[in-house]
Amino acid sequence: MTVRTRVAPSPTGDPHVGTAYMALFNWVFAKSQGGSFILRIEDTDAARSTRESEDMIIDSLRWLGIEYDEGPYLGGPHGPYRQSERLKIYAQYAGQLLDDGHAFHCFCTQQRLDEVRAARRAEGLNPGYDGHCIGLDADEVARRIDTGEASVVRMRVPEQGSCTFRDELRGEIEIPYSQIDMQVLMKADGYPTYHLAVVVDDHLMGITHVLRGEEWISSVPKHKLLYDYFGWPMPVLVHLPLLRNPDSSKLSKRKNPTSVNYYRAMGFLPEALTNYLGMMGWSMPDEREIFSLEDMVKAFELKRISLGGPIFDMEKLSWLNGQYLRGLDDEAFIDRVADWAMNRDNLARLLPLVKERTERFSELLPQVDYLLGERPALSAEQFEIQGLDVDKVREILFFTSSDFDRVRHWQRDELLRICQINADRLDLKLRDFLKPLFVAVSGRDVSLPLFDSMAFVGSDITRIRIREALSAVGLSKKLAKRLEKAYQRYS
Ligand code: GLU
Ligand code: ZN
Repeated sequence: MTVRTRVAPSPTGDPHVGTAYMALFNWVFAKSQGGSFILRIEDTDAARSTRESEDMIIDSLRWLGIEYDEGPYLGGPHGPYRQSERLKIYAQYAGQLLDDGHAFHCFCTQQRLDEVRAARRAEGLNPGYDGHCIGLDADEVARRIDTGEASVVRMRVPEQGSCTFRDELRGEIEIPYSQIDMQVLMKADGYPTYHLAVVVDDHLMGITHVLRGEEWISSVPKHKLLYDYFGWPMPVLVHLPLLRNPDSSKLSKRKNPTSVNYYRAMGFLPEALTNYLGMMGWSMPDEREIFSLEDMVKAFELKRISLGGPIFDMEKLSWLNGQYLRGLDDEAFIDRVADWAMNRDNLARLLPLVKERTERFSELLPQVDYLLGERPALSAEQFEIQGLDVDKVREILFFTSSDFDRVRHWQRDELLRICQINADRLDLKLRDFLKPLFVAVSGRDVSLPLFDSMAFVGSDITRIRIREALSAVGLSKKLAKRLEKAYQRYS
């Protein structure tokens, strides 16, 4: 058997280190077995998926040295590799499940589903679907579809018994069917849900081993039922532990930079980042900490994966990166600095910001230091701004940060629009509203244009800097709660 693995990210934002982590393990495992690694783009959430995000994912994997053997742009024998381009395939398989009585049309409105959920919860039942539409006869279904009534396709789930399956790292797992909802497989817009698409694609793409995050364990019964309904063998399942913040919570962008772009912009080397990710829940047989991708491929064994939640610790990563940097010879070091930021592309992006403001080259670096590197640490005094009391400053930083966490297209005009709305809401002139943000982003009160700066450094860095500004000003738990409530009301 030729091993085939895949990573299946959803292109809905910055390329996540969690995606890089899954990609790394799938790639390393495939290569250690002489197999292939596939990239599949799960863009079935039409409203949130963007090509921009897909391109960033592909670019970040390439930067990390994790090359896929089949996938978007490159193609391959089992394409297309974007789920949005495979809608006909899912419709065909959903049709087969309907014909065989393993799935049914459901016409329930959102309102009815909400009521059912609330009622079931009140009864102490699992808050799932109640099977209302299972018994509709075929003529009625056809008639209602003909009249244009919206419907989804749901899968049938046995009422009794439980599902038993094997996870390579955990052994046998048993989940009672009473905990499994009659999952929607096809949405009213003709798009499949993850559950149908993942099973159909893993099968058609010949995936032999699925390495993915442990948050998917609870979905396996749905998948196993579908494999059984179709009469297909199930791939080997390996659920990897999730990366965690130093406080053991799940790695999230509210606490840690999670975008690969951030690490790249801050001057981490791709080989240090893959080395570090390789240490997350896995170790070399000789426990050595510094190892290359090739070393990892040579030594890789699934059974060396440990299940304790690995802590993604920036300080440790920085230390490791330092080891790599000092290991470069002088020529290589110079080349890598140029690759990082001192290259024509990057300078071309900076030029429009500085050209009009510069009389001598010697003025260039001091103007752009906070764009290329770290900005100076912040102090509370820097936020003593005339005409703005400190609580206003806190509100500005808090609301902007909350809104920025949700921005999908990180572009200067969009950021400006958000700030204008917030300034109006707080009854401030835009000029005044922006003052604390200037300090947060650049570390000083006069800098290059703010929105261009934020666009240049990108979403992760901007958001981290605003959060750091909030902690420099000081935000008590109590006030944070109050602001969070106020924000919920506005948004
Ligand atoms: N799109 C899912 C994710 O990014 C894929 C899960 C899977 O690998 O099955 O987590
Ligand atoms: Zn229904």
